[in-house]
Amino acid sequence: MSNQTATFSKDAAIVVEALKDYIRESAEKVVPVIHQPILEQLVEQLKLPQHIAQGELTGESLKQFVDNYLVATTRLHHPGFLAHQVAVPHPTGALGSLIDGATNNAMAIYEMGPAASSIEYFMLNWMLSKIGWQGVPSNRQLDPQSAHAGGVLTHGGSLANLTALLAARSARVPEFWKSGNPGNLLVLVPEQSHYSMKRAVAILGLGEDNCLTLPADADGRVQPSRMAEQIATLEAQGKRILAIVANACGTAAGLYDPLPEIAAICQEHGIWLHVDAAHGGGALVSDRLRHLLQGIDQADSVVWDAHKMMSTPTVCAAVLVRDHRHLDHAFEQEASYLLHAKDQPGFDFISRTVECTKAGLGLRLFMTVAALGEQGLAQQIEGLVQRAAEAAAKIEQRSGFELAIHPEINIVCFRIEGDDQCQLEIRRRLLERGDFYISSTLYRGRRWLRLVFMNPCTSLEDVETLLDEIETIRATLN
Ligand SMILES: *Cc1c(COP(=O)(O)O)cnc(C)c1O
Repeated sequence: MSNQTATFSKDAAIVVEALKDYIRESAEKVVPVIHQPILEQLVEQLKLPQHIAQGELTGESLKQFVDNYLVATTRLHHPGFLAHQVAVPHPTGALGSLIDGATNNAMAIYEMGPAASSIEYFMLNWMLSKIGWQGVPSNRQLDPQSAHAGGVLTHGGSLANLTALLAARSARVPEFWKSGNPGNLLVLVPEQSHYSMKRAVAILGLGEDNCLTLPADADGRVQPSRMAEQIATLEAQGKRILAIVANACGTAAGLYDPLPEIAAICQEHGIWLHVDAAHGGGALVSDRLRHLLQGIDQADSVVWDAHKMMSTPTVCAAVLVRDHRHLDHAFEQEASYLLHAKDQPGFDFISRTVECTKAGLGLRLFMTVAALGEQGLAQQIEGLVQRAAEAAAKIEQRSGFELAIHPEINIVCFRIEGDDQCQLEIRRRLLERGDFYISSTLYRGRRWLRLVFMNPCTSLEDVETLLDEIETIRATLN
């Protein structure tokens, strides 16, 4: 151990120095944003078998390994990174991941990580307050008579969505836990819902076929005016709607569903409303953007990923419920309050999660927000949304380009003249060139090129260069 501590600060300095150069050269665009060597070749280049046989990954050997590793990464700090809803991590947030790794406080219960648990608790209350819900002191969390809000951080939005639907299931069909599926349950999701929603329905034993699509308008947003009819039809068939899901926002085009209208219908019919705000929840921190999520406080559950718009290293997702008891009951029908020792100084999150051992996820989020400041974070998100709007305007002005829809948030879908295959081929060639990394999506039955503005360094000039490159590639395809 003493040997380990002696080398730790030297090795940490090596790694941090390499990362500093990595972030700088990525931001300066002197390296490709993406390049994908063949897996087997990488295993060899990184000398993986030799390293595990030899041991001694320290000093010069560590430096070489890290340098080689960084060469084969996809560089999120590169302004050409426009592909996916993954945060460009704040370096201070990354230090949070390091502290968490070094301390390894697997905070299933408070005594295993008081600082990690307290920070999770604090950040959850902060997120609840952004929704418009009331957080409470930790001792009140144990009070089954109190209907305040609650939450838990979990390893990603997909697991968070599963957890939220589990809470819905236990709230609406409590007997399911012991006796299984009564057979007539349905979940209704938006046409544009993330695939994890349908998966969650299947994992929960409801059957994928019982995950139905809500009526949508021409843009793919949920259309509340047609929901009552759908609900009546299904109920007349003897079906029971366990939960309705709304997007805030959808994954493909980043559109926000009309939450107040959907919430009113859910309330009228006593249906659980889950809002999937995994990506779009970030808008809640901005006074200028939070109107997009108006009505979110009427939901029963919300999922909000910090590792998307919140500049936080992966993963850090929040499951938030309007009534904390639903989360506590999700994993056990009998009051899990019995699990808690009521005289302990803190709060055990174990009864609210699929996981037992859990990373101290709150620390990376806290350190990110604390580094930027709440206002700084809000401004950064506003900047990304602004850049997306400017990019959309540029696309609209260019002949041969078609904008799918005016962006509401930081996602822009567009295409250039040509069929679906042509869009895919353009993307493939762009990635091969390596100065831009964009994604593509199916939206309203057609294939679109898709930009997700995550990097505050991406300029409008970068977008112009990208559009020029797309034009050039398109010309070679004729
Ligand atoms: C990203 C996303 C998810 C999945 O979250 P992960 O953290 O990637 O598991 C679910 N729903 C929506 C709307 C998303 O944008």
